[in-house]
Amino acid sequence: MAETLALVFHAEPELPVPQWMDENRVLIGGDMPGRWDGRVVPYFHLIMVMCAIPDVRIVTLMKPAQCGVTELFIGIVLWSMDVRPGRWMIMLPKAEKAEDFNRTRFQPAIKVCDRAMRHIANEKKAFTAARTTYDRGIIEWLGSNSESGTEGTPARYVWIDEFDRCDPLATSKLLERGKTFSDSKVIETGTPGDAGKGIDARRGAATCQYTWFVPCPHCRKYHTRNWRQVRWANGGQADPTIVRRTAWYECPSCREKCHASDRAWQGRLGQWVAQTQSIGDLGKDEHGHDTAGEVVGERPPIDHVSFAILGIDNDLLPNPYGEVAAAFLEKIRQHGQVDYVWCTETLGEAYMVKGSRLEVAELKARAEQSPNAKGEHGRCPLGTVGVIVVCDVQVDRLYWAAFAFSNRGADIWLADWGCEACLGDGTLATVLDDLRLKEWPISKPGEKDRKIKPSIVAVDTGHRAEVLYRYRKDRDSKTVLVKGFATKGNRDTRPYTRSTVDFAGAQIPLYRINVTLWKNSMARWLSGTQTTEAQLTATLTDGTDAGLVSTWHLPKDVDDGLLSQLCSEQYVDGIWAVRRKGDANHYWDIFVYAAAVLEALGVREVNTGASNGKVQGNGGSGGVKPRVEPAARVGERGPVGQRFLD
Ligand SMILES: [Zn+2]
Repeated sequence: MAETLALVFHAEPELPVPQWMDENRVLIGGDMPGRWDGRVVPYFHLIMVMCAIPDVRIVTLMKPAQCGVTELFIGIVLWSMDVRPGRWMIMLPKAEKAEDFNRTRFQPAIKVCDRAMRHIANEKKAFTAARTTYDRGIIEWLGSNSESGTEGTPARYVWIDEFDRCDPLATSKLLERGKTFSDSKVIETGTPGDAGKGIDARRGAATCQYTWFVPCPHCRKYHTRNWRQVRWANGGQADPTIVRRTAWYECPSCREKCHASDRAWQGRLGQWVAQTQSIGDLGKDEHGHDTAGEVVGERPPIDHVSFAILGIDNDLLPNPYGEVAAAFLEKIRQHGQVDYVWCTETLGEAYMVKGSRLEVAELKARAEQSPNAKGEHGRCPLGTVGVIVVCDVQVDRLYWAAFAFSNRGADIWLADWGCEACLGDGTLATVLDDLRLKEWPISKPGEKDRKIKPSIVAVDTGHRAEVLYRYRKDRDSKTVLVKGFATKGNRDTRPYTRSTVDFAGAQIPLYRINVTLWKNSMARWLSGTQTTEAQLTATLTDGTDAGLVSTWHLPKDVDDGLLSQLCSEQYVDGIWAVRRKGDANHYWDIFVYAAAVLEALGVREVNTGASNGKVQGNGGSGGVKPRVEPAARVGERGPVGQRFLD
């Protein structure tokens, strides 16, 4: 709390807000009636401190539903009545709601707070429907839908609640009114809506953007809480009522379990860290007690500070990991996917347009629940007519994945994957040879396994291109060479182009793949949003993705390593980029190349005569059992191979 203490000592010698709150704020109704206890919600401490610092002009707080933020700011208003009086203008989306809030929550809170109540001369006159008048100011409650009050008298304090639901014109007018005073304060609170808009945009616009860090009880390193690290037993089959109690958090550093019972300790040692700062490991004092990690790096200017509290940060819940995870499972059960309300209100994160990023837990739950996901790692399901292997060559290794596809490429199953060391050029050639000769069994219960070899081997030439050109020229002319390129938004609307490279007197064919378009498509297919006719039409016509329609299936035993690579990127400002610096994204590229190559080679146009095993219904997350006939030519080099690889 060194950071906090430094700020407290900088402020005037009046009772610091956190202390004032502990001594004077009384909660009525709600989940925790009684005296306010700042220790329960440790992440509120710095927010309270900031509200008293004159240099801080704007405080933005993004939060999930039901996490005590409203009680916090009611407390801040009461504190100001007593300590820093002035005119308050408080805006909610609708006037009726603002008045109701004033009468049922704010005025009763004054009545149980002696330090605020002593500034009320005459209750009858002081408390009216839309305002509270006290000895040194007025507290007005406004609706963003009504004209009155947003112009005229300046206010020392402005608080806009439910920011994303307020009329933007009314909020901007109100913000103007707060600018007149040299020590004015604007408070913006709300649950996020769309990413990059409303409260999320305000959080991003702040000069000083704070993120909440807590220590791990095992490795003593600090981490921010992230939904991707929430874990529970039994995956997609789990009972939400059990998950609600038992879900835990996997430390991203040591992968040990952090339980709900560790949270009080974690909160006590938690720290807000600004975007220009970092935090060291947990320390110990001379008595052997744990001390908070040191926040290092210069703090940015604090004229506009922002804070984000996530659903998994909410210490008012007995097990916030469980609450978020159980709600997630319920949504997946009901709709096959999570929705806007889960993301914004439960998780407390701004909503990105569906398909603009993937989540490990979501993909895992879908893999486990899919009635068609009977494929296992290392096997091809019934209905397979061909296999495509795609390789991503790095400096010292080669990542690969094999996808089985059905007739016309209607269903595509991830069948196998791996990573091979290949430092020398000779080793790279041998690894590619081995993959070409590899065989996979096709599952059919009670029958002897049949096997299938790859029909197509495609290799990304992003690294070691010359070696790969030579391999294509001298060793295997069937290898399909690809190279990805990215254009922002949909500036280049061609999903791929076929070009040639002049290499040692030979013309080597090379497919250039528009990865932006394909990643947009891939994210939609994998997240299962590519399910209804309407979405399909939109996808095919809006020109922002590549438009091939397949149902993609992950095996039940797909591992977290592969999934985290699939989820390593997000679509922001028209481009796909890794979410965190240094994250591996090889399998994500491999999936994209597999889709693009299947389309480029015309797999969709080739009917092998085999039944395709296409699942009826909504993309594999529900629907009926697949009706599958044994494919006629499975195991032989089919027309796909003949047509495109000769
Ligand atoms: Zn740890």
